[in-house]
Amino acid sequence: MNYNLDREGLVEALECKDPAFNKALLEDAYKVKVASIGPVVYLRGLIEISNICSKNCLYCGIRRDIHCPRYELTDEQVLQAAAMAAQRRFGSVVIQGGERKDKAFVAKITRLVKAIKAIDTGDDPPLGITLSLGEQPREVYDEWFDAGAHRYLLRIETSNPDLYRKIHPNDDNHSYDRRLKALEDLKAAGYQAGTGAMIGMPYQTAADMADDLLFYKSFGAPMIGMGPYNPHPDTPLTHSGAQFPSDDERFMLGLKMIALLRLLMPDINIAAATALEVLNPRGRELGIMAGANVFMPNITPSEEMVKYNLYDRKTILKDCPSVGKDDNHICKNCVFPFCSMGENMREGKIVVGYGQWGDSKAALREKSLKKL
Ligand code: SAH
Ligand code: SF4
Repeated sequence: MNYNLDREGLVEALECKDPAFNKALLEDAYKVKVASIGPVVYLRGLIEISNICSKNCLYCGIRRDIHCPRYELTDEQVLQAAAMAAQRRFGSVVIQGGERKDKAFVAKITRLVKAIKAIDTGDDPPLGITLSLGEQPREVYDEWFDAGAHRYLLRIETSNPDLYRKIHPNDDNHSYDRRLKALEDLKAAGYQAGTGAMIGMPYQTAADMADDLLFYKSFGAPMIGMGPYNPHPDTPLTHSGAQFPSDDERFMLGLKMIALLRLLMPDINIAAATALEVLNPRGRELGIMAGANVFMPNITPSEEMVKYNLYDRKTILKDCPSVGKDDNHICKNCVFPFCSMGENMREGKIVVGYGQWGDSKAALREKSLKKL
């Protein structure tokens, strides 16, 4: 099928409720992915380092003002998880957590990035490291880059400044302009700067989502991590009673956003977000079949993982065999989620790229252009 990928065409595709159109869109995006970068899916072991956060985003279940048990992984826990990622040949890890600017935390990340780089990976390159730790001063981004991190994920959350204002407290600590500036700083510091937005939020229109896709393109993002908005029962956004699309609608929107982005930017990395899995047990697999090529097995120790409640993850964690086990237990279901993808793997539709950093073709092209 031919797709009109200008703003109007994107809005129309996002609003379309015709199952035949939607099915064809997802299938076509998968084909474009395979033609452009192949069926390979890269892994990033996700380490949720802490749910302590200095910010108060109105949608987030670990925002500063929520009363919930807080944790911070020890160096040993982080390094144990990273060693497991190396042993399983994941190729890279993501360290994600609440936004903190205190000196001790900044120094801890520097120390950990260096230590993860020193982990023996056998014949593979050292583990690649992506950070996702919010807005930081440029010097901090430089310090972590020099320590060995090379990718950073900072979602813009929405490319519409008015909507940004509605879903954040109205203060200097939550400013759209500062978020954008942080993304520019990350690029200038040398990172592959990834971004993304939530999908199906209160007040968000199809035109907003189309603009998000166009924003990714104009920013030249080499990687995108976007996923459905999922409500958390104790946040101001949930308490506001503002309406948003149903679970099924948000799930389909999540898949269609991946598909349309793949058509717009055929050779970038697109993650199949965990938020998809909340809405459908095969959510991330279906994300991959709609054009995503990055998968993040969660390797946070189970006892702490249950406290990293950005949103309600009950549907994922209800059958978790590890919850309640000892502190450093890492859930096998989280580490081997591919068991459930057997058929698509047997047929070669999903091929796992073990032992590689898995930088996007777009990022590698950019790097070679810079060298010229
Ligand atoms: N503190 C860092 C990284 C951790 S939060 C930051 O904010 O950049 C990671 C992502 O979780 C955020 O970017 C946001 O898009 C997502 N998130 C938070 N609350 C969510 C919710 N209720 N539904 C879906 N995604 C959510
Ligand atoms: Fe903190 Fe990130 Fe949640 Fe905002 S989205 S409150 S910065 S963890």
